[in-house]
Amino acid sequence: MSEKFSAALRIGDLNDFIAPSQACIVSLKGLKKNDKPEVSNAIKQVKFEPVKISLKDCLACSGCVTSAETVMLEKQSLDEFLNNINSGKAVIVSLSPQSRASIAFHFGISPIQAFKKLTRFFKSLGVKAIFDTSCSRDLTLVESCVEFITRYRQNQVVEDERSKSSLPMIASACPGWICYAEKQLGSFVLPYISSVKSPQQTIGVIIKNYVCQELGLRPEEVYHVTVMPCYDKKLEAARDDFVFQFESHAEGRESEINMISEVDSVLTTGEVLELIQSKEVDFKSLDETTLDKILTNINEDGYLYGVSGSSGGYAETIFQYAAKTLFGRQIDGPLTFKNIRNSDFQEVTLEVEGKTVLKFALCYGFRNLQNIVRKLKTGKCDYHFLEIMACPSGCLNGGGQIKPSSGQSPKELSQLLESVYMENVLVASPFDNPIVKGLYDKWLEQPGSVKAGRYMHTQYHPVEKSITSQLHNW
Ligand code: SF4
Ligand code: SF4
Repeated sequence: MSEKFSAALRIGDLNDFIAPSQACIVSLKGLKKNDKPEVSNAIKQVKFEPVKISLKDCLACSGCVTSAETVMLEKQSLDEFLNNINSGKAVIVSLSPQSRASIAFHFGISPIQAFKKLTRFFKSLGVKAIFDTSCSRDLTLVESCVEFITRYRQNQVVEDERSKSSLPMIASACPGWICYAEKQLGSFVLPYISSVKSPQQTIGVIIKNYVCQELGLRPEEVYHVTVMPCYDKKLEAARDDFVFQFESHAEGRESEINMISEVDSVLTTGEVLELIQSKEVDFKSLDETTLDKILTNINEDGYLYGVSGSSGGYAETIFQYAAKTLFGRQIDGPLTFKNIRNSDFQEVTLEVEGKTVLKFALCYGFRNLQNIVRKLKTGKCDYHFLEIMACPSGCLNGGGQIKPSSGQSPKELSQLLESVYMENVLVASPFDNPIVKGLYDKWLEQPGSVKAGRYMHTQYHPVEKSITSQLHNW
C-alpha cells in the first residue's frame, strides 16, 4: 500500500508509529476484547488472523508487511463503491480535473469528451450525478484569497508571537503534505497552514449540507465518491475532522442522529480505469452525455472553465488577488514563475517602490519540501505564500494516476498531461464563477463569513509519536 502514497508519506523515516518491516499495529487494534490470540506450542509464537483495517486506521507509515493488507486497502474503495450503488443510496461522483486529464490522455480524447463519457459510464452503473471538483476548488480559492489578506494584514500590524506565524501561509490542498506536517513536523508548522479545506472536502461539504437539500435527499441517503489523482486523498476523506453530526427527521420515524462523512469513498484515476476495464466497456466509443451542471464548471456555450494551475492554481490566484487588494496592481495571468533550484521550485514576486511586497513560491516534491521546512524552522523563510505539494511535478503526477506506458518516464507523462489538462478549458477567475456566487448568495453569505468558516475551514492536529517509533529511532 505504502508505495502508492505520495513521496512525503513514503519516505523511510516516516516510521512514526511502526517501523518498516514490523507488523501493522492497526491489525492488533482490530482484535475484539475476547478474541484470544492463537498460541502455537511448538514455537510459542502468537498468531493473529488477518484483520480488516479501514483507511481511517491506516497511518501510511510504510510498514505494510502482508499482501493481504495491501489488497484489502487497495480494493476497499472500489468494492464499497459498487456495493453502495446496489444498496439503493443516491451515489454521487465528484471528478477531479487531474483525473479527467489522465483518462483523456489515456484514451486519446479531450478532457470534455472524457468527462462526458465518464458521466455516461457512471450513470449506466446507477450513479445519480457526476460533478466537477474544479467547481469546489474555485470556492476554496476565494476563501483562501480572503484568508491570505487577513494574515498579511495581521503580520504587518502586530508584532507578537501569533502574528509571526500568520505568514507564510501554506496551501492546505495536499493531504500528503498535511499528513507529513502533522506526524513529522508537529505544532511549529501547523499555524502556517491555511485553514481552508481542500477541493475534495469542500465539494463533500456542499453536497452533504446544501445540494442534497436541493435534491430533496437526506445526507445519509447520499453516498459521495470522489475520483482523485492520489491515494493520499483516501486518508484525507477518512479524517475525523471531516465527519459531522446530522439530526434526521424522516417521515413516520423518530428523529435520529447520524454521523455523516463529507466524502464516503475515494477512487483513484487508476481504479476508475480498472473499473472501466472490468466492465469490458469500449470507453472511446461510448456516447457522450450532457454534464450535471449544478456543481460543474461548464458555461452556456458548453466549454469547461477554471484556473490554470494543474495543482490547484493557489499561488497564482492568491498572488493576483493580493496584488490588486493590497497594492492596487492589476496583474493578468498567466504569471511568470522563475525557476529557483529546479522546475519544482519556482517563485514570483511583486515589487512596489523598490521593496518586495509579495513573494510566493511553488514547492513540489519531497526534496524541495524539506528545504523549505528547514528555512521555516530557522526563521529564514521570507515567502508570503507557499503552494506546497508532496508529489514532484504536482498533482498530475499523483500516485493514483494512470501509469506511464513502457519506456515513458513519469516526468515525460506529466509534461504531456500538462498540455492536455487545459485543452479546450477556458481560464476563468474563481470570483466570476456563477456557481460560487450562487453558493455565497443562497447559503454561505460572503467570503470569510462565520458561516463559510463553519463549513469551509478546518483544523490540524500534531500527532504524538509512539514509544515504538521513538525506540526505533534510537
Ligand atoms: S501503511 Fe497502513 S496498513 Fe500498512 S502497516 Fe502502515 S498502518 Fe498498517
Ligand atoms: S501533490 Fe497532489 S497528487 Fe500528490 S499527494 Fe498531494 S494532492 Fe495528492
